Amino acid sequence: MLDWAVRDIKYLPGVGPQRAALLEKELQIVSFKDLLYYFPYKYVDRSRLYTIGEIDGNMPYIQLRGKVLSFETFGEGAKRRLVGHFSDGTGVIDLVWFQGLKFVTGRYKANEEYLVFGKPVVFNNRISVVHPEMETVGELTFSSLGLRPYYNTTERMKRSMMTSNAIEKLMNHLFQALQHEVFEETLSPRLVAEHHLMPLADALYNIHFPKTPDLLRKAQYRLKFEELFYVQLNILRYTKERRFKYRGYVFGKVGEAFHTFYTHYLPFELTNAQKRVIREMRRDMGSGRQMNRLLQGDVGSGKTLVALMTMLIAVDNGFQSCLMAPTEILAVQHLETITRFLSGMKIRVELLTGSVKGKKRETILRDLLTGDVHILIGTHAVLEDTVNFSSLGLVVIDEQHRFGVAQRAKLWAKNVCPPHVLVMTATPIPRTLAMTLYGDLDVSVIDELPPGRKPIQTLHQFDNRRPSLYAFIRQQLQSGRQAYIVYPLIQESEKMDIKNLEEGYLHICEAFPEYQVSKVHGKMKPAEKDGEMQRFLQCETQIMVATTVIEVGVNVPNASVMVIENAERFGLSQLHQLRGRVGRGADQSYCILVTGYKLSEDTRRRIEIMVRTNDGFEIAEADLKLRGPGDLEGTQQSGIAFDLKIADIARDGQLLQHVRGIAERLLEEDPNAERPENAVVWRRLLEMRRQQANWSVIS
Ligand code: ADP
Ligand code: MG
Repeated sequence: MLDWAVRDIKYLPGVGPQRAALLEKELQIVSFKDLLYYFPYKYVDRSRLYTIGEIDGNMPYIQLRGKVLSFETFGEGAKRRLVGHFSDGTGVIDLVWFQGLKFVTGRYKANEEYLVFGKPVVFNNRISVVHPEMETVGELTFSSLGLRPYYNTTERMKRSMMTSNAIEKLMNHLFQALQHEVFEETLSPRLVAEHHLMPLADALYNIHFPKTPDLLRKAQYRLKFEELFYVQLNILRYTKERRFKYRGYVFGKVGEAFHTFYTHYLPFELTNAQKRVIREMRRDMGSGRQMNRLLQGDVGSGKTLVALMTMLIAVDNGFQSCLMAPTEILAVQHLETITRFLSGMKIRVELLTGSVKGKKRETILRDLLTGDVHILIGTHAVLEDTVNFSSLGLVVIDEQHRFGVAQRAKLWAKNVCPPHVLVMTATPIPRTLAMTLYGDLDVSVIDELPPGRKPIQTLHQFDNRRPSLYAFIRQQLQSGRQAYIVYPLIQESEKMDIKNLEEGYLHICEAFPEYQVSKVHGKMKPAEKDGEMQRFLQCETQIMVATTVIEVGVNVPNASVMVIENAERFGLSQLHQLRGRVGRGADQSYCILVTGYKLSEDTRRRIEIMVRTNDGFEIAEADLKLRGPGDLEGTQQSGIAFDLKIADIARDGQLLQHVRGIAERLLEEDPNAERPENAVVWRRLLEMRRQQANWSVIS
């Protein structure tokens, strides 16, 4: 590492011990290099003044110059807002504040001239800028700059006057301090030349102080390229090493258990997708290396059956299997399904959850050790140290995102070699994201539903049409079906006008006096929750009013209606998961998205996608585009240090695939990391790994 890079930030002119402490606490900036790599989150073109007269609905952040004619407040309490009527002589727009009203009126005066920065939005033919940034004209310092950088700061920093402006000044000092220093290139000369990349030193300068949009674009491209390239190189190399390091048990044959089941017990024909996936796994498990496979398939695509047949291959090779589910009720359901499939065959299946105790538990633990139990189904309870196998060869994990990395790693220790691992998820992950999150897992996809399923019909309904909605639900209940009604929150939040679960429950009880209604939410004790789910499953209750706790896995084939209240408050993948609770039987099922009348553009798009398609992958792609990857399920728990500084997987998917190819070629050409021309690359990779020491076992 270069000298200057590790220099303590407090020695930078303008910083000092106090600001250094703040920078460390709030932004983890400790060294010169940390500051250098603190990139702006946006840029504002301050080389140009716009006029109100030329604003249209489609503009980025712009700069205006004019006066506030007057301030006015509207509304009460949490809904209070301050509006400043702002004019530059060519028109009038509204500057709007929802927070910090006192601060604004104290600081800015009517009839003084200001520069205003912000993104204009057009609503009902009026133009407004929400929470604009304002400066007095006298403060102008930027005349020589093209695009001006904006840095994220925290509340605490702002209170100490460490604004974006202040950071910009520090960045200026930093480049002055570094003007005679060397910036060591982090990509090999060949990569830089072949892919026409901006040299690192130029890119770092231009990412902070771009003179033109074109230079900014080139700087961004260079830095994103590098970031994604090393992420991919790391994953690819790690995968290679792991394959080399861990031998797997060889499941060399497909024998009696599998064949008997397939020919005599399987009640239907497998779909082609199921057949393909089973073939893929047979190949893995027979190869002598340990299988690590992610199985993606929409709800109802028949993953459980695939898992079962894989476990039968384990049986045929003298190994035990373990199937883990995230909740007790799901584990019980798996047990029932699998016992039903296997009834008549001499295969012993047992259930181990927290509530299996005493004698029963002892027997199971003993018979696991002798190998008498072939398939163990359970919850987290199977991870306990007291649970040991005679020869665990395969672990299946259902609904993977509920299990942390550490928990999965625990299973590895339950036999001499790590068992084969099959992770199943119904939350489709777009390809680009899967590459990064699960870059070392092989991915299988069931992209076909069993024949004869009626696609769920999805409708959008405004919440003032309740009578017709209830009439529809009643009609379904009368024909013997059941219905879910899902609410986004448990308690009413002051700010948002949300029909909460409790209120909804009472309302539904009143509206359907002739039916029994269940209520389930996240704050209930697990046993209570399971009990209520059971009642619904047994059709003792016909309506289930719930929060999103029902999202994962539970199978009630008789339920044919899913009503989602305040659908605007749910993300796409959540809506899709909820919808997947119905459509599991032979009857036509319906999903009804209930929303208020006023919808944002994003919400409108989400609803439109849901109504149009049942395809989970299409929805996942759309979700990624609308939301960005940060919120997607699985990203937090994935176990990979997922802190990209500049690349955005949602938007940079193409670049990601491009650099993955480049990383693959480099590994092929230089498998032992010994070519001098790549020295820079290998050194950088090593450095990265040292920084993320816990980049460890993913499954
Ligand atoms: P998933 O776990 O992927 O959501 P399941 O494994 O629970 O789906 O399967 C959903 C339903 O479809 C189950 O009732 C299962 O028995 C049935 N099923 C699975 N595969 C087939 C198939 N090939 N043909 C017909 N029905 C199937
Ligand atoms: Mg399932």
